[in-house]
Amino acid sequence: MVDWDGPLGEAYERATTYLAGLPERRVGPRATAAELRQALGGELPTGPSEPRDVIAHLAKGVEDGLLPSGSGRFFGFVFGGATPASLAADWLTTTWDQNAGLYAASPAAAVVEEVTADWLVELFGLPRGTSVGFVTGAQMANFTGLAAARHEVLRRVGWDVERDGLIGAPPIRVLAGAERHDTIDRALRFLGLGTSSIVPIAVDDQGRMRADALHQALQEGGPQIVCAQAGNVNTGAFDPVKTICDLAHDKGAWVHVDGAFGIWATVSPTLRSLVDGIDRADSWATDAHKWLNVPYDSGLVFCAHPEPHRAAMSIRAAYLIQDENGERDSLDYNPEFSRRARGFAVYAAIRALGRSGIAEIVDRCHAMARRFADTLAANGVAVLNDVVLNQVLVRFDDDDELTRRVVRAVQDEGTCWMSGTTWQGKAAMRISVSNWTTDESDIDRSAAAVLQCRDQVQRA
Ligand SMILES: *Cc1c(COP(=O)(O)O)cnc(C)c1O
Repeated sequence: MVDWDGPLGEAYERATTYLAGLPERRVGPRATAAELRQALGGELPTGPSEPRDVIAHLAKGVEDGLLPSGSGRFFGFVFGGATPASLAADWLTTTWDQNAGLYAASPAAAVVEEVTADWLVELFGLPRGTSVGFVTGAQMANFTGLAAARHEVLRRVGWDVERDGLIGAPPIRVLAGAERHDTIDRALRFLGLGTSSIVPIAVDDQGRMRADALHQALQEGGPQIVCAQAGNVNTGAFDPVKTICDLAHDKGAWVHVDGAFGIWATVSPTLRSLVDGIDRADSWATDAHKWLNVPYDSGLVFCAHPEPHRAAMSIRAAYLIQDENGERDSLDYNPEFSRRARGFAVYAAIRALGRSGIAEIVDRCHAMARRFADTLAANGVAVLNDVVLNQVLVRFDDDDELTRRVVRAVQDEGTCWMSGTTWQGKAAMRISVSNWTTDESDIDRSAAAVLQCRDQVQRA
């Protein structure tokens, strides 16, 4: 008899202790890299060890090197935590160990993805019949959406990119805002278009693409893809996506929207107007691991036109049992072949929260971001952006060096955690409120800690 209870019991104990400790845990790692190597390194094991002991050793060894991103006072990057239902479903995903590439390899995973895909399309108000892929993150969602775009804009000029590649193909221009996310550039590298295919479009002071500049750039014509952004990673600002779609479609261009976290504004009745017209785009990328608070990793790609999506991704192999009855084979929508059944955790998250629960997370994060910004502003801190969503950029004494020192001091102090950035040439502290548990007391404690660190740095 295999002893599952030993290692799984140990894991359960460790997991619940970790989760229960999150609210009061220091928000930051305690161990140095050298200490972690000391605790975890050593010679290659020459023989077996008891699985339960391995789990205990691993958990003890990593404890001080974890960044507690599930804390309500974690404001770094745009991370999000994990809701109970999605975390538990993620455990079971590992237990069931399905290979979710084909219907035949897991009918349950395929149907759960199909159901979840329909829910998401309805939730975001995207066109009926939009196809969906469950990928690792917005990076691969951008890659997949842009692969569909590449297929379609070249097909329209009589070029089969899947068969003939890009050598000798008509050039594609990719019109993207100057403040696009770096994963767009990386996706274009992977797609063989290269970063020199990008035509950077001027942006305003919030990082929004300027429609007049796009209009001008589109006039050149030929195969064109426009990359719009819903939710700038620094300011949270939204490109004017409705106007962008109208201008681009006039010129036969494909519109891809990077909405890694911003697309979730569609779910909030009060914030929805920020994404007005987003349903007119051709493809969309987002994350479940950010604002839906599903465990890492979990991204989503949507395509209003399933044919180019499938043309770019699908694969036929003689030994595969591909479904003849129209059931979902996810490898038609994903760049992966074998893959984790990511749909289970997304399904559980949506089922547990419902539309109103998701809207509540988005609205509360927005309100908490404003509370953070207002508290700091009332104490002489400059807020650099319009806090339209969940992102806040602040700067201290209009001084790059001092601002960076305050960021480091806050990280060392441990009440909360956030990182720095450079916004339009100026150093800033970047606060992202993306965790489903963050409440007023988290904000007030964190704002007080930031102000205390500022005062200390100013005195020093
Ligand atoms: C986070 C983010 C990405 C990259 O997403 P991953 O999930 O890290 O792959 C892309 N675009 C924007 C706007 C983001 O915020």
